Amino acid sequence: MLAGYAVHVESSRGRRFPEPPHPYRNDFQRDRDRVIHSRAFRRLEAKTQVFTRRYSDHFRNRLTHTIEVAQISRTIAAELGLNVDLVETLALVHDIGHPPFGHAGEKALDTAMRTQGLFFDHNLHALRIVEDFELRYAAFRGLNLTFEVREGIIKHSHDYNAGDYPQLAEYLLDQRPPLEAQLIDLTDEIAYNTADLDDGYEAHLLSLDEIRAGVPVFERHYQEVARIYPDAIDKLKFNEALKRMLNRLVSDLIANTQARVVQAGIGTLEQVRNHPARLAAFSAEVEAERQQAKQFLHENLYFSPTLEPEKDDAERIVSELFNFWMECPAALPPSYREKAQEESLPRVICDYIAGMTDHFIYEQYEKHLGGIR
Ligand code: MG
Repeated sequence: MLAGYAVHVESSRGRRFPEPPHPYRNDFQRDRDRVIHSRAFRRLEAKTQVFTRRYSDHFRNRLTHTIEVAQISRTIAAELGLNVDLVETLALVHDIGHPPFGHAGEKALDTAMRTQGLFFDHNLHALRIVEDFELRYAAFRGLNLTFEVREGIIKHSHDYNAGDYPQLAEYLLDQRPPLEAQLIDLTDEIAYNTADLDDGYEAHLLSLDEIRAGVPVFERHYQEVARIYPDAIDKLKFNEALKRMLNRLVSDLIANTQARVVQAGIGTLEQVRNHPARLAAFSAEVEAERQQAKQFLHENLYFSPTLEPEKDDAERIVSELFNFWMECPAALPPSYREKAQEESLPRVICDYIAGMTDHFIYEQYEKHLGGIR
């Protein structure tokens, strides 16, 4: 039951290299499966989301975060009559361009590149992975994904300007992305804002009292839960309140996006694309709650002194390895030395580092620079 404004797979702009149709999987289902079977996707398991393995094996990593984004996105997409296969593919691929060590690693890699007059952007890197780095097919490099998936990789979270990014001209930069892609940025936020409260509480970096005082939407649900289950232990009341908060964010995003679509008189994908603003959005009230939660996490978790040592490691390891390979390109693996014949050395080093898992980059640091001193 696809809505008129959904992406219909039969109208896909297709793949760079045309392929015969599959007997029982449509093109977006095949793209989803290609992402799942890619090497970059498997590496997400060993990349930090917020907490490294030092804390616990049951905290989120990039892979389990990605699966949570996919779950939330599928629920919302189905309710809105959007293309669930496309949404699932975009959710599964949305963090595939992230370097090791979470946000700190991304920042360190960008800083290193800026010393060379370049920069690092995880969406652009994700596109390079699916277009070029994944080698699975004899007939072409990359995964040969459909236009709509590649467009979503680029446009889900960020509007790129055609003047600054001529290489992205084919992705209709003057138009909004389909709702399937618009959703991903918001479901990503729902997933990590709630998950980071959960892991932060479990790690004893956030106390229940702090969360209750700093996140009003959580507090309202907590009070409701405490009335219904006065004798439940704190952790279960916490879980119940967090689950209700997640449900509120999801339900609001569905209802408010639906209302905006109706109000704007949107009936086709073309109208979604040509509408001046993105249509997927929370209501003003819930948007304010989302910002409060995010602000709370910024002030109390992401910059917590307990997380500092690993962030310092991340900065040092990324920047020192980057500089080491800049000075000593002969120490790069043969395939990267070969790539450096055609592309600039800093970009090749950046690609190499961005693809690494947390433990692989620690190994490289040990091997070339003697490890953490
Ligand atoms: Mg994410």
